[in-house]
Amino acid sequence: MLLQSYRLDIFNSECNPGAMTEMCHAHLDQDVGDVLPFLNAWEHRYDIEPSHEGLPRPKVIHILKLLPKTNCRECGEPTCMVFAARAAEGAKGADDCPALEAGSKKKLSDYLSGFRLA
Ligand code: SF4
Repeated sequence: MLLQSYRLDIFNSECNPGAMTEMCHAHLDQDVGDVLPFLNAWEHRYDIEPSHEGLPRPKVIHILKLLPKTNCRECGEPTCMVFAARAAEGAKGADDCPALEAGSKKKLSDYLSGFRLA
């Protein structure tokens, strides 16, 4: 769930105290900016087939297979497995493993480019 919590300020308009309407400001505690491009589709919501599947994620084991598996720590991670897990999250990329030879670096880069990672 993108929105975890929010705070509402409900108040009367100071410039029109006798108005029969209330003002309301919602202060969101999380950044919902990623959703904004999709709001234009809201009026078509009954025509759109919802998808209940998450985005495909890179497989840690596939990434690990492409790494040297020497646990040399040159990347700043304690093991290649940790590096692979961080790469699957989008926190590391092929350029972050200085021990990767060119062919494996390209394979890893190509593999990771097939996913939308943070
Ligand atoms: S630099 Fe590469 S080979 Fe060394 S620990 Fe990190 S991921 Fe493994």
